[in-house]
Amino acid sequence: MPCFEFTHCLCVPLVRYPAAYDLKPNAKAHVRILIAEDNILNQKVVTKLLRTFGFDSTVVTNNGKEARDKYVEEAEAGRPFDLVLMDLQMPVMDGFMATQSILEYVAIKESEGRVGMYPPRIVALTADVLSSVIEECRSCGMFGFIGKPIRREKLAVIIGEVAVWVTEVGFGLRKPRTRAVRYARVG
Ligand SMILES: [Mg+2]
Repeated sequence: MPCFEFTHCLCVPLVRYPAAYDLKPNAKAHVRILIAEDNILNQKVVTKLLRTFGFDSTVVTNNGKEARDKYVEEAEAGRPFDLVLMDLQMPVMDGFMATQSILEYVAIKESEGRVGMYPPRIVALTADVLSSVIEECRSCGMFGFIGKPIRREKLAVIIGEVAVWVTEVGFGLRKPRTRAVRYARVG
């Protein structure tokens, strides 16, 4: 099979959702989102898509270090992000290192007994959905991944899952550290 056909095949979403697929009205109420993406066009695509769900105040950072620093800054101010959309290939600090750095920071704060501190759901944004890359995402603590090109229905699936998790944690129905039932895979 020619190489480009194989690549094209991997870019097709694993699950097809109807065009009208949308978040439940209350799904977005409690989800704070941080974007880490060095490509300006992709930044615009993601923020525009998030805006269609009603997320008007997502924070955009340009590399992994900025994302890590912003996460810490907001967490220290008592406003931790729930979802981090993390590009993998970025200058200064890549998505894997940034993920590990954020999760290490949270683990330290948890061990110090910081109230309300729990690890965010970190979701990779990647055009490279080879199983080795996805396994690397999983092993460094990511919640899942979204394959590029990023489409609205893919974001809806991830945000919907994170919204349920945030709500359950908020009501004490689930321990923050509980792993997802399944690895969120939206190729
Ligand atoms: Mg990049």
